[in-house]
Order: sequence, then C-alpha cells, then structure tokens
Amino acid sequence: MTFEQFNLHPAIMDGIRSVGYSEPTPIQAQAIPPALEGRDLIGLAQTGTGKTAAFVLPMLQKLLRGPRGKLRGLIISPTRELAEQIYESIKGLSQHTGIRSMAIYGGVGMDPQKSKLRTGMDIVVACPGRLLDHVWQGTIDFTDVEMLVIDEADRMFDMGFLPDIRKILKCLMHERQTLLFSATMPDDVRKLVRDVLNDPVTVQI
Ligand code: AMP
Repeated sequence: MTFEQFNLHPAIMDGIRSVGYSEPTPIQAQAIPPALEGRDLIGLAQTGTGKTAAFVLPMLQKLLRGPRGKLRGLIISPTRELAEQIYESIKGLSQHTGIRSMAIYGGVGMDPQKSKLRTGMDIVVACPGRLLDHVWQGTIDFTDVEMLVIDEADRMFDMGFLPDIRKILKCLMHERQTLLFSATMPDDVRKLVRDVLNDPVTVQI
C-alpha cells in the first residue's frame, strides 16, 4: 500500500512528504479508504500505531472540498497532552493546505481561545470540559461540523468524560461522519458506539 493509492489532494501529499512519512502504517492502510468514502468508523488501535494520521488525512481531504473558515472538523481528546500531539500532527500534515486549526483545553485562559476561534478555524482539537465551557458561553459554533473524531474513547470513559461527550453530541448536527478510536471496548464505549455511530466499519490492528 502507498499513500498515492488514496488519491489524496496534492496539498495533502505535499504535507505527507514534508513530515517524512513514506508509506501508510497498517491502521492507516485499513482506516483511510472507508473514512474517505464517508463511512463511520471504529478504530481499535493504540498510540504509536499512526492512528492520528488515520483520521487527520481523511478529515483534511473532506475539508478541502467545501467552504473555509467554518468549524467543520472536530476532534475530542481526553487529555491536553494528546490534544497538543494531535494538533502538532494536523499542523504538519496540513501545512500546504491553508486549513486552519487550533487546540482547546482547560488550565489556560479562555480569552485567547475565544479570539482565535473568532478568526475562523476549520478544525478544533479539544478536551471535553473546556469545549463545553465554550458551548455554554456561546463562543463556539457547531452548525457546520460535518466530521467528528472521538480519540481514545476508553480513556475518555476512565476519566469520567462520557457524560460530557454526550452533552457535546447533543449540540452537533446529526448529518455528520463520526470516527471513534479506542484501544479497548469497555461496555460503556460499546454503548456510545451504538448510540452515535451509523453503520460503522470496524478496523483493528
Ligand atoms: P500516533 O500513533 O498517531 O501517535 O503516531 C505515532 C508516531 O508515528 C508519530 O510520531 C507519527 O508522526 C508517526 N507516524 C504516523 N504515521 C506514520 C507513517 N505513515 N510513517 C512514519 N511515521 C508515521
């Protein structure tokens, strides 16, 4: 399998070259084609497998078709550290696309996040608590979100974030593509999958 086989936009291929990836990892080879078709997806994969690019590349491809400067891609992460890592990966892979992204998490001021949001972000990577703060304050607009990624869903559950995730989901459009990644499938995550994913493909490595 090669990255060329995915028929990604040339600007994304330039990003892949810039970050130095030469061929897809197994999770990428399995997850990217159905994600590009618009399918909902469950990815059973641990950190270190290349799972981040497995959802970032299809998201970039989707966002390159359609309007810019509206929040259309939302990624939810259980921790700040993971949110920062995902954001760094997006920055690398999207560097030739003009797509704008930011990370949102607690423990830092709301105001700089609000100002940055007002300038028009295409992708937001966020931790659940702070994301809900922006929802309640009306400083984030979910009207245009067409692709949602829930990363490390099992850790989200361990950390008690599933009720927050459900609150966030209530604010999102139903017409969207949803990808969920998790290393394990505890019952509560399985229930979340049943409730929020539509006829998902499962990929496992
Ligand atoms: P992740 O599992 O997404 O945290 O990725 C683990 C590491 O693998 C990160 O440092 C990525 O930059 C790197 N990586 C992801 N995909 C590839 C690839 N196709 N080729 C080489 N390195 C990769």
